[in-house]
Amino acid sequence: MILDDTKGTMVPMAAEQENSDYTGEDGLLYCGTCHTPKEAYFPEGKTLFGRDRSPSECGWRGERNTD
Ligand SMILES: [Zn+2]
Repeated sequence: MILDDTKGTMVPMAAEQENSDYTGEDGLLYCGTCHTPKEAYFPEGKTLFGRDRSPSECGWRGERNTD
């Protein structure tokens, strides 16, 4: 039996944009803190579920407000 809730994990989600984030010259979302792209294009211009990019960890941790 296949559970429905496994479907959602396959869909690439938009990167979370935070206040200091900005869009770079290449059209990707950049982290305003460490200036690293928070998105990455799929190789060879491929698309998946209508998106041409996937969220990417910028590596910066600890700045997120949990309150
Ligand atoms: Zn960052």
